[in-house]
Amino acid sequence: MSDQYDQIKKQLLKERQELLQDVSNSYETCRELGQDGVPDIGDMSSAAYSRDVLFNVSETQRQRIHDIDVALEQIEKGEYGICMSCGEEISPRRMEVRPFSRYCIECKTDIEKFGE
Ligand SMILES: [Zn+2]
Repeated sequence: MSDQYDQIKKQLLKERQELLQDVSNSYETCRELGQDGVPDIGDMSSAAYSRDVLFNVSETQRQRIHDIDVALEQIEKGEYGICMSCGEEISPRRMEVRPFSRYCIECKTDIEKFGE
């Protein structure tokens, strides 16, 4: 295992930790909104709206955590930075921008167009 991967691994684990923290903060906020005394329907719908927004945010975060888990697994398997679709090496610059990329730009574009 090279130092380069060590660094990436640390970065991913740190980001994962922060995301988990964010998710639990969102849940905390949801709970507070839920417990809030709701005086009228206007407030109730805005509270419901906030819950939806928070739920969607935490969905995105959960997806991100999953991406990070996959990247960590790929590092373990020595497949990090290899496109999961075509098996080509993903450009290092792309990996720098998105350290948990699973596909090269070409495959990613295809997947976005045609689905995974
Ligand atoms: Zn590819």
